[in-house]
Amino acid sequence: MFTYRNISFTFLLVILVFALSGVLLDGGFQVSGYGFLVSGFWLLASVLTILILGSVFIRWNFYFFSHNHGDRSSPAISITFDDGPDAATTPKILDILEKHQIKATFFCVGNKIEKNPDVFKKIIDMGHAVGNHTYSHSPWFDLFSSTKMAREISMTDEIFFNLTGKKPKLFRPPYGVTNPMLGKALKKTGHQSVAWSLRSFDTVKKPEKVLRKVNHKLKNGDIVLFHDRIPETAGIVEQFILEAQKSGNKFVPLDELLKIQPYASVQ
Ligand SMILES: [Zn+2]
Repeated sequence: MFTYRNISFTFLLVILVFALSGVLLDGGFQVSGYGFLVSGFWLLASVLTILILGSVFIRWNFYFFSHNHGDRSSPAISITFDDGPDAATTPKILDILEKHQIKATFFCVGNKIEKNPDVFKKIIDMGHAVGNHTYSHSPWFDLFSSTKMAREISMTDEIFFNLTGKKPKLFRPPYGVTNPMLGKALKKTGHQSVAWSLRSFDTVKKPEKVLRKVNHKLKNGDIVLFHDRIPETAGIVEQFILEAQKSGNKFVPLDELLKIQPYASVQ
């Protein structure tokens, strides 16, 4: 399989072959010093490219496993919202979900839960599933050590627990970036990583474009990614729901789509 472990192993193996061929230069391998250097460069460049792409494309499951879709043969789909709770925009989304009787999933940021505890509690009270999306959502999160990452995740768990008595088991990596440090941190905290199969790009694209894309690409079992901090998202989501329901799709929260528990049992 195409994973971090296998690529590292293959890389080490190729290095070994290179070293051996160096030793055997006078033997069967007639490789010139220049050719040797060029091959080494390309090998290193290829491995680095794979490592970077594996980090950016969470759905490759390169460094660790992330759930990224449900059963493709069932019309059930999940909407997920990242980066809240936001005092102004999240309640609008909650209203739309209530109006259409839909349960969704919110990946919340610890320091925003601290700022907006009432909005956070409302999400839980309305029966939506909630997961952990770090404490700071720092742009440098991916450069943190695994200890620092685990600390951020645990801090959010603690705030979460103090307000709800629940401990989240689901985690969504900020920006969808994965690396070995995050894999180690999640092992330590015991969270399951959740990615998506359909990204709306509501943070960067115009509402009409976002809507056209999600409506056009939606498939059975999809996990759709939106952001509840974006003011336009509530309107987009309502149109999306109406269109998806017309096509026979059924909205379920992530735990139902993936048949997993969203919270750890706490003694
Ligand atoms: Zn985010």
